[in-house]
Amino acid sequence: MIEMHDVWKTYGNGVSALRGISVKINRGEFVYVVGPSGAGKSTFIKLMYREEKPTKGTIFVNGFNVDRLKDRKIPYMRRQTGVVFQDFKLLPQLTAYENVAFAMEVIGTPSKKMKTRVKEVLELVGLGEKSKHFPNQLSGGEQQRVAVARALVNSPAVIIADEPTGNLDPETSWEIMNLFNKINDQGTTVVMATHNKDIVNTMKRRVIAIEGGQIVRDEQRGVYGYDD
Ligand code: ADP
Ligand code: ADP
Repeated sequence: MIEMHDVWKTYGNGVSALRGISVKINRGEFVYVVGPSGAGKSTFIKLMYREEKPTKGTIFVNGFNVDRLKDRKIPYMRRQTGVVFQDFKLLPQLTAYENVAFAMEVIGTPSKKMKTRVKEVLELVGLGEKSKHFPNQLSGGEQQRVAVARALVNSPAVIIADEPTGNLDPETSWEIMNLFNKINDQGTTVVMATHNKDIVNTMKRRVIAIEGGQIVRDEQRGVYGYDD
């Protein structure tokens, strides 16, 4: 599903965020990416959906050679990769329904199919009743549910998330985590960078730890392993 070979990333300012990452993530896996601040987790995630390009190395995601992808092919790749952010990144002037529908509109989905599918994913994330609300009328947890619905609406094979519970209280974080579990149970691969020690230690999933731009630990039923 995801494969990286000797991936390096040096930013324009000379900072080497990743130094020789090689990893394989199989279809249907649920993987937590942990590590101290500045370790390279966000960069690792950004390379997977071509928000950043590697300086060196190869990256395959869901059959796409992401590091060599032509710009015009990026929309096809992103359609099959759902992304969820810490700060939700919803469009404030659109309702919950419209935020989710927008992800289908941009790829030219016929409107009948779109209506059915948007309703379906909003139900799945438990927001069927609030589809007409704008982001500022929703709690943080509800906004993140909209963002998860948007990531899911085009039925991607993989969902990647960068600190999706970073702005949420512990109880709401668990609700969002259970949503990711449900999605993974339905066969979607999940890769999530997180600082949520409690969740990582409870779930006993695969844990990849990054420090100084290198993978320092990769365990099938791993623990968080840091004090923060
Ligand atoms: P993490 O997500 O683990 O906190 P990041 O991938 O965000 O780590 O950052 C890794 C390193 O790369 C840090 O030293 C950070 O300051 C640097 N970095 C991240 N993004 C950029 C950028 N766009 N330009 C320059 N340096 C960056
Ligand atoms: P996030 O943490 O939400 O992934 P950042 O806050 O790291 O995003 O990045 C915000 C902007 O600043 C991005 O354009 C990123 O590329 C840039 N950036 C991040 N870290 C650095 C850095 N150390 N030096 C220069 N630019 C950076």
